[in-house]
Amino acid sequence: MALMTGKQYRDSLNDGREVYIDGEKVKNVADHPAFKPIVDVKARMYDLNHEEKYADKVKTVLPDGEEICRGYKTPETKEDLAAIRTYVETVLDDLGGVVYRVGDETIGEMWSLYDAQDKLNEIDPAYARNIKYHVDRVAREDLFHVSANTDPKGDRSKLFSGKDGGTLLHVVEENDKGIVVKGAKFETAAAYAHQAFVKPTILDWEAGQEAMAPFACGFICDMGSPGLKHICRSSLGAGKNPEDYPVSTKFEEIDTLLIFDNVLIPWENVLFHRSLQSAAYIRSTLHRYSAFNYTLRVLRRADYLLGAALLNVEQTGLTKLQAVKEKIAQLITYREGINAHLTAAVANAERSPGGLMMPNQSLLYTGRIFALTNFPAMAHLTRELVGGQLAVTPDTTTMSDPAIIDYIDRYYSVGEWSAEDRGKLLYFARDLLNSSYAGHKVTFELFAQSPPFAQYMAAYSSFDAEPMRDLVRKAANLNPKTSLTV
Ligand SMILES: Cc1cc2nc3c(=O)[nH]c(=O)nc-3n(C[C@H](O)[C@H](O)[C@H](O)COP(=O)(O)OP(=O)(O)OC[C@H]3O[C@@H](n4cnc5c(N)ncnc54)[C@H](O)[C@@H]3O)c2cc1C
Repeated sequence: MALMTGKQYRDSLNDGREVYIDGEKVKNVADHPAFKPIVDVKARMYDLNHEEKYADKVKTVLPDGEEICRGYKTPETKEDLAAIRTYVETVLDDLGGVVYRVGDETIGEMWSLYDAQDKLNEIDPAYARNIKYHVDRVAREDLFHVSANTDPKGDRSKLFSGKDGGTLLHVVEENDKGIVVKGAKFETAAAYAHQAFVKPTILDWEAGQEAMAPFACGFICDMGSPGLKHICRSSLGAGKNPEDYPVSTKFEEIDTLLIFDNVLIPWENVLFHRSLQSAAYIRSTLHRYSAFNYTLRVLRRADYLLGAALLNVEQTGLTKLQAVKEKIAQLITYREGINAHLTAAVANAERSPGGLMMPNQSLLYTGRIFALTNFPAMAHLTRELVGGQLAVTPDTTTMSDPAIIDYIDRYYSVGEWSAEDRGKLLYFARDLLNSSYAGHKVTFELFAQSPPFAQYMAAYSSFDAEPMRDLVRKAANLNPKTSLTV
């Protein structure tokens, strides 16, 4: 096996997968207008792994000399974590925009399960072997790996029972080839990925009922498997002029409702099955690694906010105003707050239970919350700084109409800024803040890794609060017996 090229990636998608969008069945995902831009982005990511100028940043070698993508190397040292950050930043620099679900941001979910090999061994040694094999395989075969956690839930009282045995994804049959599963998942990028790690998302496995066993399964699913149907939402960039919508026409990542209509999962792809303990474990450790890559994306989004705000206020001389400088400083504080969490999470990285190196969990999870909860306010501040022209500026074709171009020049050019460049900056800011794509991203960021309540739970569970209890016990001279935690 070797690092894939962009062409090999494009060709690999033509595998007979069943994809539906805008009322049509897609013949070839790589050529379809809704998917082509993001497939091109991922193809570019594959190609840049072959460019000499990026060699030390985007790839590495396994002990046996096999070259793999840097983002797919299990982190064993702090340097590995720092190299993952460099990899993500190098890729985003080259692409000139932010993409989330392009492989590296989801692969860490497999590393979380890899950490539980001892537990899996107790359940069935085959499961421990399988996760080890898949962590290795995804790197060696350079596969585009995504994540399937969330089931469309419907009536919560029928999650585990009712017609068809419940609405959550579950095993309907076991045979000598593997397990047969039925259900559905929401999954960004599924239609143009190679495989997904499918697992349950609900929190409460503690109830431990036998009736829950068929739902407690985790597996690797090939995205071209027979019986798998990709039902996709419409593109928010397709058909738009790239000059007017420079972000959405290039970086739109399509979400899919993935239907598993009696899909056979071969035994070698089954990572756990009928194991409530494994389902509970993966739920609580899911983003141990992947939150790092996710938050790196929000950091880059913060950079774009800051850049867009600065260029807009500088061109009209508004930075002379103290109040405007203060607002820019708020954006800088936000940006540097995310940066500080990520930097410290690597500097204070922790050995994982499975022997890997994980970013400091408390700093990572609180950093993710800091980045995501403040993003809407920072976007709003940027919107305010860019001003109303963000919403009222005519599109490129109108701006360049010879009949009115003199007016455009007169009212849009300022100092060294031509009307054309001011327009470009406003279109960029619109796609960052105001377009349908920008609106979609707000919801994506709110939910795509996990909903806010789950993110707060991760922060709560990963923080060691004992020193604080102890401080107060001592300072208030408490009787240790009355201050025991429950
Ligand atoms: C754009 C987008 C892309 C996505 N991509 C993916 C993907 O690639 N892979 C994937 O697996 N999923 C993906 N998701 C799904 C996402 O993970 C879920 O939307 C998210 O986990 C919330 O689940 P839900 O939508 O079923 O909402 P629900 O679980 O129905 O929750 C809705 C709301 O109810 C409240 N609530 C529910 N339960 C609790 C609780 N226990 N405690 C407190 N409050 C609660 C919260 O306010 C919560 O936000 C994506 C979602 C979006 C919007």
